[in-house]
Amino acid sequence: MAGSVAWVTDVTPEDLVDPFGRTVRDLRISVTDRCNFRCAYCMPAEGMKWVPREDILTFEEIERFARVCVDRFGFDGIRLTGGEPLVRAHLPRLVERLAGLGVDVSLTTNGATLRRHAQDLADAGLARINISIDSLQRDRFLELTRRDELDNVLDGIDAAIDAGLAPVKLNVVMMRGINDDEAVDFATFGRERGVTVRFIEFMPLDATGEWTKATVVPAEEIVSAIEAVYPLVALTRGTEPAERFRFADGKGEVGVIASVTRPFCGDCDRVRITAEGSFRTCLFAIDEFDMLRHLRGGGSDDDLVDAISAAVGTKWAGHSIGQVNFIRPAKSMSQIGG
Ligand code: SAM
Ligand code: SF4
Repeated sequence: MAGSVAWVTDVTPEDLVDPFGRTVRDLRISVTDRCNFRCAYCMPAEGMKWVPREDILTFEEIERFARVCVDRFGFDGIRLTGGEPLVRAHLPRLVERLAGLGVDVSLTTNGATLRRHAQDLADAGLARINISIDSLQRDRFLELTRRDELDNVLDGIDAAIDAGLAPVKLNVVMMRGINDDEAVDFATFGRERGVTVRFIEFMPLDATGEWTKATVVPAEEIVSAIEAVYPLVALTRGTEPAERFRFADGKGEVGVIASVTRPFCGDCDRVRITAEGSFRTCLFAIDEFDMLRHLRGGGSDDDLVDAISAAVGTKWAGHSIGQVNFIRPAKSMSQIGG
């Protein structure tokens, strides 16, 4: 592990259990709020307010926070996200540091520059990758992302496969009247390329405030559309958010993430830290817990342990999207780290 510190700990990890009995083991780290795309459902075309660069966690601070989660609480999975994580310079160096903690490190990316980075990421110890792609049609992709990058993303998917990252999963956010006619096309694409496609229900975390329940394509509808062409067999679900299905003819899998119509909050084992070091116990949390002040202000690892424990003590049973008591978080998906 070139350039990183070897940490030795003799502390036995203790389970981090929230008030509803769920053991937290999964950390999502946003490495930047910036992005090279402007997906219409995620960001406005112009005018996003970025976190000042000096307020963004350094790789050393991220590694330290992750190490506390792993060593003290037995976390076993870390996913890097953003904004677009690949716009952060030298990302493989962070992957190498985190893989050195002995946990499963994965990444969610829009894939636009993946051809350039896939092999370095794999060599650094990245285990798995999710690539977001919401249309296989060039004009529609351009309209959705405001970037004419479909070919680069498709090449990025191939680059991930070539680099040996496995599994490669594709994230597709389905939106009514926008791309809801592409479920079968994506299923066919996944079967042909040997990648798993996961359809995600549109959530009220857009920066533009255009989400309504009517824009959500229910997971059930997506599964029915695919099943009409390719018979599916449901697989047993673990703590992961995706409901998984295998193609009955053996040609791989698809999944749906029914965050809105069938929330999986009861199995949630996840927490997040934003690019500027704010800790969140739910995507939809209203409260954030400032870890930067411990990381940069001379706090000890025990201070971090206490702050994390206190925050997880506030984790709620689940979100209430679509109900009268639902409050939209002030931050949008890219500012939180999706
Ligand atoms: N830029 C990277 C990417 O697009 O993969 C990582 C960050 S992005 C915020 C993470 C994931 O969140 C993407 O798959 C994106 O499509 C999804 N996403 C963004 N806004 C969403 C929303 N309002 N509802 C559901 N998924 C959303
Ligand atoms: Fe960027 Fe990802 Fe948001 Fe698209 S979904 S604008 S790629 S952060």
